[in-house]
Amino acid sequence: MKQNKPKLIIFTGPSGVGKGTILADFFKKVDNNIIYSISNTTRQPRDGEINGMHYFFISKEEFEKMIKDDAFLEYACYSGNYYGTNKKFVSEKLNEGKSVLLEIELQGALQVMEKCPEAVTIFIKPPTFEELEKRLRGRHSESEASILKRLAAAKEELKNADKFSYVIENNVVEKAVDELIEIYNKETK
Ligand code: 5GP
Repeated sequence: MKQNKPKLIIFTGPSGVGKGTILADFFKKVDNNIIYSISNTTRQPRDGEINGMHYFFISKEEFEKMIKDDAFLEYACYSGNYYGTNKKFVSEKLNEGKSVLLEIELQGALQVMEKCPEAVTIFIKPPTFEELEKRLRGRHSESEASILKRLAAAKEELKNADKFSYVIENNVVEKAVDELIEIYNKETK
């Protein structure tokens, strides 16, 4: 079934803020008129991550070939690795009448806002910077060097929150998910 108003939705927020947890619950609760855009990345898979589900894990050479072929709607180098959104996938889904959600970091979000000013823009922020650091460290998924790069990026990202139409504070996950569902319904129905 086609959606009344299929939208491109940009979902951004610093690493460790809980974007993945919010989205896992969101996608369980909403209809299938919204699709998660699976990004390409050159970062190594973490334990439990599946190629083609969490990301398409590709080499730096493959990523650079995709840049040359103009295959990305946006891409960025973040914490030492490339991340990018497949342009063809996004346009196909929008043409099918589906909304598409991009879970991307700030540099990529700003590129998409420039190219697609009609996109719905959502920023997830932590209650405090200290809480963000605690969550990022508590994940035990990153090296100390990666944590420090991610915290430095987070400082920049938080300064840009006011460029987004919606800001959700992720204090209590269920509440953040409810807010996201409300935005989704309001923007697409
Ligand atoms: P992680 O390595 O923790 O999976 O992701 C690092 C950051 O890259 C997160 O903020 C995530 O949202 C972002 N990210 C994931 N996919 C993309 C993408 O395709 N483009 C951009 N610009 N950022 C992405």
